[in-house]
Amino acid sequence: MHELSLAQSILDAVLEVAEERGAERVLGVRIRVGEFTMVNPEQLRFCLEALAEGTPAEGAEFEIELERGRLRCRECGEEWSTDEEEALKDARDPALHAAFGSEELPSLLGLRCPRCGSRSVEIRGGDSCEVRTIRLEFG
Ligand SMILES: [Zn+2]
Repeated sequence: MHELSLAQSILDAVLEVAEERGAERVLGVRIRVGEFTMVNPEQLRFCLEALAEGTPAEGAEFEIELERGRLRCRECGEEWSTDEEEALKDARDPALHAAFGSEELPSLLGLRCPRCGSRSVEIRGGDSCEVRTIRLEFG
């Protein structure tokens, strides 16, 4: 499951920082998730909370913000973001998860250039996940 493995790597990174700095507890974590990671923010939060149990991050507040996807047309060079993109709203198909990070993702989503209508579209942003801030409590 996509969200579970991502949650595990986020938590590992957070706990490593907490340990390095000698913190007693993790109070909060802010995470930015790109739209094209096809991660469901609610599922990710659920996995983080479950995995954090019994660690210094238990009870931490996990804030997840969604980063809009950015696209570029290979034909005409048009660049746009996915604010208005209906295709992504129900993009929870397992095939899309499997295609994550691949060249085929824009065409699987049925994305087209808004200017020239080309389907030759590439992803320019919103395809990664990062931990933005970590709030720690020291003993
Ligand atoms: Zn175009």
